[in-house]
Amino acid sequence: MGPVLNGLIKLQRVENRLRAVKTKLARCRRGVLFQENQLRTLQNGLEAKQEEIKQAKLQVGRLEMDLKSRDEQIDKLRSHLNLARTNKEYSALLTELNTAKADDSKIETQVLELMKNVEVDEAACEEIRSQIELQRVKVDEIRKESELKAVELEKDIAEVQTEWDAQAKDIPAAALQFFQRVAETYDGEAMAEVEQVDENSQSYSCGGCFMGVPAEIVNVLSGKDEIVRCSNCTRILYLNKGENE
Ligand SMILES: [Zn+2]
Repeated sequence: MGPVLNGLIKLQRVENRLRAVKTKLARCRRGVLFQENQLRTLQNGLEAKQEEIKQAKLQVGRLEMDLKSRDEQIDKLRSHLNLARTNKEYSALLTELNTAKADDSKIETQVLELMKNVEVDEAACEEIRSQIELQRVKVDEIRKESELKAVELEKDIAEVQTEWDAQAKDIPAAALQFFQRVAETYDGEAMAEVEQVDENSQSYSCGGCFMGVPAEIVNVLSGKDEIVRCSNCTRILYLNKGENE
């Protein structure tokens, strides 16, 4: 190992810190989005309930109009009943009247049912409105809090980024490109330490994916400052011999 690999190992440490603080910032922003979504869900719920109430009231209006014309019809039947000249005519009118009355009372029940639903829905709207108020306060608080936190985190990111740039400056372009490409694939983890499988064996494995690493590669790594990538996961391999501290 030499300056290139040692440089990459140091860069890996900075990369990890950079990713960690970026993750914190993302989490901080997601927290606000989550609370905003909760608020939106409540608002949508309120709108849906209000629409239900509106439709129910329209239906009540229609049924009441219907009842009015039916009542007129019933009055007419009653007066005809009084003027009936034969028993047959009388009983036919009576049947018609009773049917009309039965229909009427069915519609009246329907109206009462709808009005009861409206009442229940209106109470539910009140409840949702107060939940919305609470949630608005919460969103405002969390937004303010996370804005402050984000400013701090962005400052941290800029600082670590400066460190990263300084650390990357002396690494050859090709090596740096490898590093960045693998880092993108493995959430920042571009380097993998070659590990001895157990103390008594001369078998080695990649610390990133645990696949075997041939002894020749271990030889190359201990002799040269060369970029060797794991044939399985493509991470950049290095030996930990305490010399990269
Ligand atoms: Zn690997």
